[in-house]
Amino acid sequence: MRKIASGGLRPTSDFLYWSERDAIREEVFARDLPFCVWCQNELGDHRSNSYYSADHVIPRSEGGWYHPDNLALSCQPCNRERGNRSILQYMVFRAQRSYIARPPG
Ligand SMILES: [Zn+2]
Repeated sequence: MRKIASGGLRPTSDFLYWSERDAIREEVFARDLPFCVWCQNELGDHRSNSYYSADHVIPRSEGGWYHPDNLALSCQPCNRERGNRSILQYMVFRAQRSYIARPPG
């Protein structure tokens, strides 16, 4: 595999072959399985799009690249729920939701 620049941001002139995308995805799975980074649910060793996806930390719409540094394993419900929120927006959303569900005291 050719060397890919590190970091989450995509060099404007670069592109990925499908074999490279597969290798990157496999690296993320090997690092993060079996837990979703958001809900910490353990879903087992399902290397299938219907269970997990490689979630962009910096969204694609903001130039986030398909690179292990910018990808985190996420279950489908969390991935869908996050949508295009930034990582900070989604952390705040989750914190507010759990506060509403279980206020302190
Ligand atoms: Zn999850």
